[in-house]
Amino acid sequence: MRYLSTRDPGPTPTHSFEDVLLAGLADDGGLFVPERMPMLDAAAWAGLAGLPYAELAAHVVGLFAGEDFAPAELGALSGEAYATFRHRAVAPLVQLDERLWLLQLFHGPTLAFKDLALQLVARLIDRALARRGEHVTIIGATSGDTGSAALEACRDRDAIDVFFLYPHGRISEIQRRQMTTIDAANAHAVAIEGTFDNCQDIVKALFADTRLRRDLSLSAVNSINFARVAAQIVYYFAAGMALGAPGRRLSFAVPTGNFGNVYAGHLARAMGLPIERLVIGTNENDILARYLQTGNMTHDTVRPTLSPSMDIQVASNFERLLWELKGRSGPATGDAIAAFRRTGKLPPDDQAWRRARSLFAGHRVDDAETLRTIGKVHAESGMLIDPHTAVGVAAARREPAGEAPMVVLATAHPAKFGDAVERATGVQPALPPTLAALAERAEQVSVLPNDAAAVARYLRANARRAVRAA
Ligand SMILES: *Cc1c(COP(=O)(O)O)cnc(C)c1O
Repeated sequence: MRYLSTRDPGPTPTHSFEDVLLAGLADDGGLFVPERMPMLDAAAWAGLAGLPYAELAAHVVGLFAGEDFAPAELGALSGEAYATFRHRAVAPLVQLDERLWLLQLFHGPTLAFKDLALQLVARLIDRALARRGEHVTIIGATSGDTGSAALEACRDRDAIDVFFLYPHGRISEIQRRQMTTIDAANAHAVAIEGTFDNCQDIVKALFADTRLRRDLSLSAVNSINFARVAAQIVYYFAAGMALGAPGRRLSFAVPTGNFGNVYAGHLARAMGLPIERLVIGTNENDILARYLQTGNMTHDTVRPTLSPSMDIQVASNFERLLWELKGRSGPATGDAIAAFRRTGKLPPDDQAWRRARSLFAGHRVDDAETLRTIGKVHAESGMLIDPHTAVGVAAARREPAGEAPMVVLATAHPAKFGDAVERATGVQPALPPTLAALAERAEQVSVLPNDAAAVARYLRANARRAVRAA
């Protein structure tokens, strides 16, 4: 399997999976996409039936990793990655009512769905670097979920050091403790005396410092990395087969921010999973729902909501869909994205919009409806769901009932957003036993001023391999 960039002038795929894994973003600023989608035939379906999650993951990701990871190597790394989950099924399905199911994606080490991809992808990156005799320093800014998932996934990996900056005093106690109690020599949580935007600006400044970038081999693990998308395709297949695919159709409702999770569902459908409907749930940051309803994609300011991991206006993975909608034309995609950046508005394209509407439905769910949904689900079933999952459930319930079962992706454990859950139900959800000790563990954190130079000095002093081997 080879890859091309969404901005490539011609249709020649020149990048390997390993290039894509290690680079994240293409040099032209575009996103990597596979040259074609692997389709499952009857024999392939039969081979997947009944596999444990880790083996299913090795098979599905193997279709994209191809020549760069041998099946046995991928199987071993996948086995290790999903052994960190607290549930034997990794991503179990729970029935909510006659039609709705919840796919629980929060049994990983940091209680949110990002563990599903990052636990595997960090191991793939580590292995690829080891083969090349290289080492990277991953840096990022986080407002909560991504930082803890990335620190947990990269901890103790020999070829990786990882630093995540978060706004001091501005994230929840559990999110902070998840980052600051990781006791590993290569994983660092850094509190910045400033806002999340300040943290992002510092990360940008560090990447712009060419000497630092070279000395530490700076790298990122953001959600546009195609390896993360590939790893997310797996749970769509796991849920589909548990509910009777390929013989029976099903639908999914996905709480959406950066469009990474639901885009993986779109690819699962392209590979032959019989998905009837893909429903996008957004919170009040509803740029995607508005686009699907009106054809206008217009940038707005980010509003804080009860589902903070979806407080995003520019869905970075959307460029991959746009490239498809534009007939896989790199120049047309690049022009549209450049115009969006310049004017805050995507140039209208009626044909592309019609096609998008045939692929996805979208609904906006505000905080009041999110709270009502958490309360209603609790009253109906006794189950506690987190605000992100509630956006998915509310979006699913806006859709007309069909015959196919509807699977809502439950992206976070209710205890991770316990205050909102308590507001809606009067019940404070309990942390899983393995995390209950979080409150007693010692925290290790450095508080630094909102100053890129101070952070650069901190990186040089603390990264294990300050200068790349010559
Ligand atoms: C990151 C995240 C999302 C959004 O996922 P995207 O891939 O950005 O659409 C939803 N819920 C939770 C809990 C998350 O952490």
